[in-house]
Amino acid sequence: MLYERVAQAFELVESTSGSLAKIDIFAELLKEASPEEVSELIALSVAKLHPDWMEQPEIGIAEKMAVQVIASAASVSESTVEDKLNETGDIGAAADALLEGSVQSSLFAEELTVNSVFRTLDAISRMSGRGSNRVKIAKLSGLLTDAKPIEAKYLLRTVTGRLRLGLASMSILDALSTAFTGDRDARAELEHAFNVCSDLGRVARVLATDGLAAVKTIKARVGTPIRMMAAKKLSDATEILQKVGAKALVEYKYDGERVQVHKDGDEVVLFSRRQEKITTQYPDVAELVRKNIKAETCVIEGEIVAVDSSTGKMRPFQELMRRRRKTDIKAMSQEVPVALFFFDILFLNGEDVSSIPMLKRRKLLDKIVTTVDRVSLTIGEVTEDPERLDAIFMEAINSGYEGVIAKAVHEKSGYKAGSRSWLWIKLKASYKDGMSDSVDLVIVGAIHGRGKRTGLYGAILASAYDEETDTFPTVCKIGTGFTDEMLEEFKSRLETHVLERQNPKVLSDVKADVWFEPVEVIEVLGDELTVSQTHLAGKDRMSGGGLAIRFPRFTGKWREDKSAKQATTVGELIESFERQRGS
Ligand code: ATP
Repeated sequence: MLYERVAQAFELVESTSGSLAKIDIFAELLKEASPEEVSELIALSVAKLHPDWMEQPEIGIAEKMAVQVIASAASVSESTVEDKLNETGDIGAAADALLEGSVQSSLFAEELTVNSVFRTLDAISRMSGRGSNRVKIAKLSGLLTDAKPIEAKYLLRTVTGRLRLGLASMSILDALSTAFTGDRDARAELEHAFNVCSDLGRVARVLATDGLAAVKTIKARVGTPIRMMAAKKLSDATEILQKVGAKALVEYKYDGERVQVHKDGDEVVLFSRRQEKITTQYPDVAELVRKNIKAETCVIEGEIVAVDSSTGKMRPFQELMRRRRKTDIKAMSQEVPVALFFFDILFLNGEDVSSIPMLKRRKLLDKIVTTVDRVSLTIGEVTEDPERLDAIFMEAINSGYEGVIAKAVHEKSGYKAGSRSWLWIKLKASYKDGMSDSVDLVIVGAIHGRGKRTGLYGAILASAYDEETDTFPTVCKIGTGFTDEMLEEFKSRLETHVLERQNPKVLSDVKADVWFEPVEVIEVLGDELTVSQTHLAGKDRMSGGGLAIRFPRFTGKWREDKSAKQATTVGELIESFERQRGS
């Protein structure tokens, strides 16, 4: 498949509003790809060459380098490229315009294909070490010399992380279903396969090569992360029990880091909720698993919690996150020791046990976990009585837990990979005291501080994740309640993510002084959600404006365990808003 066709389709997708229409255009494109090309085409469309958990290098070209690439390919000076970039605000448009006028656009050019582009970008991403930047620039400008202006536009956006088609993973699954089965009905099956193998490209390749029946045979396996199940939230015990199906396993909610443990003999791999391998950060956890999990192969989930080295008491999440930042892993595992609390099992000795109901899974888990000082199952109790649920919640809070998670125990209470459903409902202290609800937001911009705050950021612009359009619309500006330490930390953490200009996936009507790459996630409390003319979350899905969080304040918790796409979604905010309006 020619890359020119891809670039044209990208342009059409981008200029089309409405997700269904976008999906249809993308499905047409997928239909034209050969089975071998489909996964590469998807990689180029999501601007990610490999799933994160494979730990392969990714292409990430800084704007500065992209300027050099264009200058070299179009035989113009870097300042000419910079002028064009400032004029258009878009590196892709700059490449398009400058190559259009370039004499080189070109008699001897080789036609770019999906495969040649993918291979070149993959090769570039693997270059490292001294002198590699020079070679990267040469390779990329070689690609551009062969590129037509429209191809250059999308290539540049792809390599600089500025591609914005508005197609999130679920829309891509819809498009795959449409392209290869004729309609969107197979989406649920495709989604299931994606949730257990965490690889969109693989699902696409299997579907295009062997059809839907083959996709259904994609099973979870030890060593490949399974997309984690998440919880919804409610504040009323009676409603929780109704939603969860009358009876629930009510577990304490531990304030730690979620871990998915894959054990194959002595080999132990730990995945975070962002699906990163965190085994090297937690050698002590791997050792505890080797010693205390009596299964040859298994996939189990639990919470890693920091504990006090002398008293053994649980310490807060922030303490645990020190383990993530420090390089001296051995010393840190002594300074911040941890305990493990397991709550689920998905795979046991060659068998996928994820669809077995909750309590039976817990029994299986109980059988393989040797309870010792630092390893145990989560504390939990089955109840159908709302008063008892409230009492367990109070016990949990009084003993220093975050709250409880009520889990469905009925016949259909299998583990739902990748979904946030009513099978798990969390109840936290912050929802109960009536004042606020916490959300996890992505920092996208900042306003310079004045007076005492000069040199620091005075206010932070924060966004939710729009899971339908793959964008980050703002929901609030947080400017009060910061301690001096918080302000210092904002500065030091955010400095590395400063952008020359607003990321196209960030949607904002508020003008920030500084824009950031949307990567850092923080926990924010707010009084309520309101319809706003200033903020944009859900604007296209509601009437009257977007949603904003009133009186937002930062709790001090950096959600290092969450990626930007795991922030609170616009869908969740709309659901909370409707609940708030109804009550
Ligand atoms: P929160 O911000 O409330 O921690 P979240 O968005 O991080 O929620 P959710 O999936 O909504 O994540 O809530 C479930 C999280 O709670 C899990 O990811 C896990 O890390 C943590 N957790 C703590 N105790 C338990 C438990 N007993 N069972 C399941 N998850 C637990």
